[in-house]
Amino acid sequence: MDQSKIDALRDQSVFPQSHLIDGKHVPASDGAAMDVLSPLDGRMLTTVAKGTVADMEAAIASARAAFDDRRWAGQPPAARKKILMKWADLIEANALELAVLGVRDNGTEIGMAIKAEPGSAAGTIRYYAEALDKVYGEIAPTQGDVLGLIHKEPVGVVGAIIPWNFPLMIGAWKLGPALAMGNSVVLKPAETASLSLMRMVELAQEAGLPPGALNAVTGEGAVVGEAMGLSMDVDVLVFTGSGGTGRRLMEYAARSNMKRVYLELGGKSPNIIFADAPDLDEAAKVAAHGIFRNAGQVCVAGSRLLVEASIHDDFVAQVAKVAQGMRVGDPLSLKTAIGAVNSETQLRQNLGFVDTATNEGGQVRMGGSRILQETGGYFMEPTIITGVTPEATIAQKEVFGPVLGVSAFDTDDDAIRIANSTVYGLAGAVWTSNLSRAHRMVRGVRTGVMHVNTYGGADGTVPLGGVGQSGNGHDKSLHALEKYINLKTAWIKL
Ligand code: NAD
Repeated sequence: MDQSKIDALRDQSVFPQSHLIDGKHVPASDGAAMDVLSPLDGRMLTTVAKGTVADMEAAIASARAAFDDRRWAGQPPAARKKILMKWADLIEANALELAVLGVRDNGTEIGMAIKAEPGSAAGTIRYYAEALDKVYGEIAPTQGDVLGLIHKEPVGVVGAIIPWNFPLMIGAWKLGPALAMGNSVVLKPAETASLSLMRMVELAQEAGLPPGALNAVTGEGAVVGEAMGLSMDVDVLVFTGSGGTGRRLMEYAARSNMKRVYLELGGKSPNIIFADAPDLDEAAKVAAHGIFRNAGQVCVAGSRLLVEASIHDDFVAQVAKVAQGMRVGDPLSLKTAIGAVNSETQLRQNLGFVDTATNEGGQVRMGGSRILQETGGYFMEPTIITGVTPEATIAQKEVFGPVLGVSAFDTDDDAIRIANSTVYGLAGAVWTSNLSRAHRMVRGVRTGVMHVNTYGGADGTVPLGGVGQSGNGHDKSLHALEKYINLKTAWIKL
């Protein structure tokens, strides 16, 4: 990738952003807008429409009308596939612009953003476009003169609420399968990362998606997100974000139409290092990248490092050495390994967790502070805290920042007990050369994804979903389609 092409886009002015409803750009019904501050320098980038309840209701009504007249679901599968494929092509053709815009909005380092955002989103849309004409109904093995058919139907109107850390990638995880199955979607981007996602929605319209099949409303979660959650006309709610919001969405569903709610929530994922790991240097490198990339703002971040006691000190020193070599700073530089924290609020929260950790007996082995304050941006040193007990706040609560807590363990059972001592269960890893131990750990650690001798990097062919308070349901893979389908039985007397 060419730095000069990125630099050419870094100061481009960004037009004020409106909602996209029924194929049209529309401002908030009361004309209100929210300032978008860039985490790169704290300066105002542009404004986005500050949606009202009426805006959300209009978007849902438009999606409902589009679903009811089957202008999308009723198209032949080949036609829907063509449109989704074209959308993926447009995302790819605009990849650099999308990535730079997203980085200016959310602070992710550009090297990662290019791959994880437009690159991954285009791949996801293509995957589900390819899948859409391979989903069939079933014929049940009935006895006698009856025919039992199981139809697979779209559910209706899907509400999708997206977080700020990877808006395009996570947006595509919902939009790809939802649209492929013929649903209409109303999208609600995060307050602090809506620009690139709104542009991706525009590209869907350019690709030929009919008006109303995909609407997007920006604004505050507590206003437009709540209106979506409480709507009587949204059939499925799919969400990625924090546990607190996930809990609210379940309440909204209970208070309204008992819509299906699928939640991808946070984690406190354990990365477990045994002394017999095949390559401890590689394990240290991957451990550092597994927590510090995107400034730790990754749901599956390996935020708890559990190290066998016999190698603890040497291994931590090696992780610290790798982290020291990871350059923090300008997210639009290809040399940067750790970009900005998304917002000042998040940065303050991260620093608060470090204070709590030290008050509870942890030792700051490295980092712990805000840096590069002169830029006006929100940057934090990669931070390693040792001596973390399993009960400590830093071991129990998701920081969602570049903060690694380290604990030592003695036995396999010890490692499993510590790994399973949180309410979460999103991801994890074990590093060992012992095959039996690897399988025992995969079985024993309560989590949705378990890596062996690596961390992260699972592709779109495998599901991602949590257990416990990390959520329910799955994104990615063909399993994601299940969220967007209703099974209908036809029982026919012959
Ligand atoms: P958040 O819950 O604050 O916000 C997520 C979205 O919910 C935003 O669009 C926000 O506007 C909306 N929202 C907020 N309040 C709402 C309400 N009352 N009603 C409806 N919508 C509301 O989360 P965040 O800070 O944007 O994202 C970080 C969290 O996301 C972390 O916990 C992280 O682990 C999690 N995450 C999980 C995964 C996964 O796949 N499991 C992936 C990425 C991020």
